[in-house]
Formats: sequence, structure tokens, C-alpha cells
Amino acid sequence: MPGIVPHRHCIVCGKAIEPDQTFCSEECKKAWDKERKRQRNFTIFMFLMFLGLLFILMFSAPR
Ligand SMILES: [Zn+2]
Repeated sequence: MPGIVPHRHCIVCGKAIEPDQTFCSEECKKAWDKERKRQRNFTIFMFLMFLGLLFILMFSAPR
């Protein structure tokens, strides 16, 4: 089918790239890694906050 070339889009900036690639450049790969790490840290932080809150609730509940 002419006109439709299999391709993907860079998941960071949306630029068209080769089907076997995920990023258009090393910069976008780095940006993605950074964002992923930030998100993971945030998830861990939220989980710890949740545990802490649960802990406080369990020990401050009226008997
Ligand atoms: Zn890109």
C-alpha cells in the first residue's frame, strides 16, 4: 500500500521514527529515563506515605 509506511512515533516528542526504535534521539531517551525515574520515586514516596498514614491510623484508633 503506497503512502502508508510502517513507522512509530518517538514516545517523548512524537517525531516519526523507524518501527524498531522507541526514541528519535539520545536526548529523548535520556529525557524518558529521567521522567521514568522521577515517576518511580514518586510512586515509592506515595506508597511510603500511605504506609505511614495506615500506621498512624492503626495506633491512634480509639479503643
Ligand atoms: Zn524524540
